[in-house]
Amino acid sequence: MTDTIAAAATPPVPSAIGIIRISGPQALSLLQGVVHPRKKGGFLPRHMTFGGIYTQTGLRIDEGLAVYMPAPASYTGEDTAEIYCHGSPGILAAVLETLFAAGARQAEPGEFTRRAFLNGRMDLSQSEAVIDLIESETSAAAANAAAQLQGVLGKRLTAVREELILIASQLSAMIDFPDEEVPELEMQELREKLTVLCETVGRLRGSYTRGAALKNGVPCAITGKPNVGKSSLLNAFAGFERAIVTEIPGTTRDVLEYSVVSGGVKFSFFDTAGIRDTEDAVEKIGVARATDAVRSASAVLAVFDGSRPLEPEDEIVMQAVDGRDAWCVINKCDLPQRIEESALRARFARVFPVSAASGLGIDALLSSLAAQFTASREAGESLITNPRQAHALERAEAALRRALDAAELLTADVVCTDVEEAAAIIGEITGQTASEEILEQIFSRFCVGK
Ligand code: GDP
Repeated sequence: MTDTIAAAATPPVPSAIGIIRISGPQALSLLQGVVHPRKKGGFLPRHMTFGGIYTQTGLRIDEGLAVYMPAPASYTGEDTAEIYCHGSPGILAAVLETLFAAGARQAEPGEFTRRAFLNGRMDLSQSEAVIDLIESETSAAAANAAAQLQGVLGKRLTAVREELILIASQLSAMIDFPDEEVPELEMQELREKLTVLCETVGRLRGSYTRGAALKNGVPCAITGKPNVGKSSLLNAFAGFERAIVTEIPGTTRDVLEYSVVSGGVKFSFFDTAGIRDTEDAVEKIGVARATDAVRSASAVLAVFDGSRPLEPEDEIVMQAVDGRDAWCVINKCDLPQRIEESALRARFARVFPVSAASGLGIDALLSSLAAQFTASREAGESLITNPRQAHALERAEAALRRALDAAELLTADVVCTDVEEAAAIIGEITGQTASEEILEQIFSRFCVGK
């Protein structure tokens, strides 16, 4: 890159500190024009320097810290500088104007990270991890993005892609000597390697369900017969009246959602219509939606009324959640208990007595949910959280399956085409084969200054 870019990295609202970033060959000279160090000696690479901050007309408008980081060991891989002034929109604007007047250009959204990618400082999956990190709402989502930023996913995929390229070159060699029959032994070896690679890609693709839940919230359905306290439970989680609570059974007819962060994990709780047989047309639709919500949720809370004995309608609920990752919630534990708790314990591994009305037991229930969803992440593993990557992995897996089918028929040329295609698709994730259009889509999602 020949031009030098600059942008504010912090939002233009009054705040304690405002940060301006500069990247490009003129970074140091531009910095020297704006920040005049108090001590002699100028800017030592990677050392904070205190100084006065000046505009192009020589007006001292602020004082603050600045750092100069020479290429290539900087975020973008170019000469870069950062100025830490007071977070006043006026100061930030004046510093930027000064930099622009001296030859810098306003950076486009994501341009710093785009330069980092183009200069080989990170692969494309790492660039996307930067957006995930900025947008992460919980510590669990941040930790996953941080692992991806460290290159966990990129390294694994690069290894897969390199193996595929090697296999494709072996296949090409076979095709180049068409008179010779493909030795069955060699094909067998290739098949075994392709099977392992296909499984690796499939496992990563499969991690998207958990990854998306980590980023967008683990979908958690609250189900139970009418009047057991499902809406009250949602309100207890929310800490305010999110749902209407009445003594009239069947009032919740649509699915209500509320997100709660517990133990660093975001959960999206869905309050659903009570599951029961009903003749009411509107309630019927509600019951169908409730059944759908239970089916598509990652976790299910099956709620029962502890103050009453189990009824046939509770049995319908138990059947609806059978085989699901379910938490049994015995609500209304503030009232005298008449429910057959042992019968529930025989059906559910996790039973939590709570009172949605008083809040008793709610924290223990939330902690159990959080423990389940943080434990399911293996150490050092990076889950796919991004639909673009998930879709690419799906296509790569399909190409590898086609390659395996073709390998059965010993048609080396067909296998080769599919293996090459899979390698190219994986390169779209890491960036080696990503088109300008893909790069445009990714970097336009960034904020200015990143
Ligand atoms: P839903 O139909 O399952 O959503 O149940 P609601 O949340 O609308 O509650 C039904 C009734 O049970 C309301 O009158 C609530 O006030 C009452 N209720 C809910 N939770 C509790 C609780 O923990 N203790 C007591 N005593 N009453 C509760």
